[in-house]
Amino acid sequence: MRILLAEDDDVLSDGISQALRQSGFAVDQVLSGLDADHALTQAPYDLVVLDLGLPQMDGLEVLKRLRSRGEPTPVIILTAREGLKNRVTGLDIGADDYLTKPFDLPELEARIRALLRRGNWGNSIEITYGPIRFDTVGRRVLVHDQPFELSARELSLLETLLQRVGRIVTKENLAEHLYGWEDEFSHNTIEVNMHRLRKKLEPVGINVRTIRGLGYLLENPTT
Ligand code: CA
Repeated sequence: MRILLAEDDDVLSDGISQALRQSGFAVDQVLSGLDADHALTQAPYDLVVLDLGLPQMDGLEVLKRLRSRGEPTPVIILTAREGLKNRVTGLDIGADDYLTKPFDLPELEARIRALLRRGNWGNSIEITYGPIRFDTVGRRVLVHDQPFELSARELSLLETLLQRVGRIVTKENLAEHLYGWEDEFSHNTIEVNMHRLRKKLEPVGINVRTIRGLGYLLENPTT
């Protein structure tokens, strides 16, 4: 699951991103409305967290443009306490939920999960593969109906592999899905985390193949 966070307060933005990444979401941070608008035309997002008071283009305009392109991406708007009028306008022009600043991060995360669960936004909410059931919103994995412990990075790796069963996933694909733009990553980090994921999957009979020089492959269970 990939989230766009448009918030010009960089301390708040970093705090939100860090919390969401720890839960295994990929987060792209933008600090202006113009950058938000641009990002939304470039890549598909599963959800947008949108501050209304943004430089260059305000959040309402970003939202209006998004909806005018017919994009149903769920949007949570962040408003200042005194921003009642904007909040109402925001909901009128297609925001799905709002939070008034200041708010607690667990509250934001709960709203995000609720929104992601509410609709079918293109990505399926639960992915099944052999004995695995992956709840992409709750960021939980069950194997044979038992909880299966994975780190946030291992979760993201597995999610990307599961979304592309039968196809080779390159390290570039994984890097793109794993981390937001701001994150440092290296091929080595991916290899280390893939090694750990594979060790955990082996006992349940799931084999992640390495295609040398190309990437990784989770084979179709029927072949
Ligand atoms: Ca602001």
